[in-house]
Amino acid sequence: MPINDALLEILACPKCKGSLTQDLNKVGLVCENCQLRYPIRDDIPVMLIDEAEQL
Ligand SMILES: [Zn+2]
Repeated sequence: MPINDALLEILACPKCKGSLTQDLNKVGLVCENCQLRYPIRDDIPVMLIDEAEQL
């Protein structure tokens, strides 16, 4: 399930503090700057660099 836009605006990349875009194909949040995808588990974004996947 996509997370809502209001939540997406609050969230920022923990590494660069940049904005995130939602990856609807593979559920997650993408930081274009860092080329990292943060997973969303049980509708909760996991904003941890250690959990992020390199794109
Ligand atoms: Zn970033």
